[in-house]
Amino acid sequence: MSEYQQNGTSDSSQTWPNMAHFWMPFTANKQFKANPRLLVSAQGMYYTDIEGNKILDATAGLWCCNAGHGRQEISEAVSKQISQLDFAPSFQMGHPLAFELADKLCQLSPDGLEKVFFTNSGSESVDTALKMALCYHRANGQATRTRFIGRELGYHGVGFGGISVGGIGNNRKTFSQQLLQGVDHLPHTLDIANNAFSHGLPPHGLDKAEVLEQLITLHGAENIAAVIVEPMSGSAGVILPADGYLKRLREITHKHGILLIFDEVITGFGRLGAAFASERWQVTPDMITTAKAINNGAIPMGAVFVSNTIHDTCMHGPDELIEFFHGYTYSGHPVAAASALATLSIYENEQLFDRAKGLELYFEQAVHSLKGLPNVIDIRNTGLVAGIQLAPSDKGVGKRGYAIFDHCFRQGALVRATADIIALSPPLIVEKSQIDDMVNHISDAINAVG
Ligand code: PLP
Repeated sequence: MSEYQQNGTSDSSQTWPNMAHFWMPFTANKQFKANPRLLVSAQGMYYTDIEGNKILDATAGLWCCNAGHGRQEISEAVSKQISQLDFAPSFQMGHPLAFELADKLCQLSPDGLEKVFFTNSGSESVDTALKMALCYHRANGQATRTRFIGRELGYHGVGFGGISVGGIGNNRKTFSQQLLQGVDHLPHTLDIANNAFSHGLPPHGLDKAEVLEQLITLHGAENIAAVIVEPMSGSAGVILPADGYLKRLREITHKHGILLIFDEVITGFGRLGAAFASERWQVTPDMITTAKAINNGAIPMGAVFVSNTIHDTCMHGPDELIEFFHGYTYSGHPVAAASALATLSIYENEQLFDRAKGLELYFEQAVHSLKGLPNVIDIRNTGLVAGIQLAPSDKGVGKRGYAIFDHCFRQGALVRATADIIALSPPLIVEKSQIDDMVNHISDAINAVG
């Protein structure tokens, strides 16, 4: 039992919950429950924890709250919608907001990607996209195209499809016998030896895209359905592609009739100073998977943007035929749709994507000022994302990263640690002084932890 649970209450008016029953996701449960970090409210750039401490949010929650916290417009839209239409079946029935939202979303998506399929999470968006790829090739008379190509260190959520194309060992090992068959992985694009402390897209590593040609030679293009990559890998610690790498993947996939899927669950909706990474880096894939900031994280929601070609090809057969045997009870849920529409209005009215672009240089210089601190071996950034990589301590991989994360939290800043990489992805409403605060918190923590 933790000291907190023994006390039962904290200094604030909040009562500590019984923590015995919630099996927390992606969390070291025993460690957490012995020394919990509980958030009870949020406003603007700050959380408040259960003891009443203000915590600067340097992670937009979990890459979600791009418009900042406690947005009245979103809570009003949610509350209005839940009273008006709390639920509508999504199979063979519709409601206007889902159509309105799809329409609005497609004003942001790259030209040619003008169909939207709604999901409830990033994992569901990924599995939906993989299934769509198979559906498309079959409808297109190329049913042998069933193989997928992901990338080492890629994170595509936790469905069996997502962990199969994903490349994070810990997420796969326990389930290895049950993963999708016929999946290969491109090499990851992290190259600290050549690219350490690059600003923006690193110069070295374009050649890693050529491995795709080798895989195509090995398996035959006629057997490959799709390549899926995060334009920028977030979960493995902010790993950027070399300049030109994504363009090269697009050229190769085009040449061989292979679909290209960008998983933009974290890069979507302004994180990189544009609606999508594909816009920022001028590469249009065939599908884009999204979630998180689509509605500022308010309610579970995701969406897959699909090319008109894929959609139209699947629309074969008589009118009464269901084209795609796939979907979720909550696809396009009215309350989630209302929250997303309110969020998109905030992004537009406050020009938050441009704001992120305008802050990028300041943010870049601020995070790179950490170079030279003890154990900092690389710093990577793009848009309003940064990764600060530390050498593992001799106590083991991840110990230093966790200690810095926990130290920052106890001192009033929420950062994210993946192994020994500290990731920053603040809400796009962040002020320059708050960027300075984040960097100061990290610097203090690095010095304190050693
Ligand atoms: N894809 C990417 C690139 C992600 O970063 C994530 C989550 O962080 C996911 C998919 C999975 O999203 P979710 O946790 O909503 O299922």
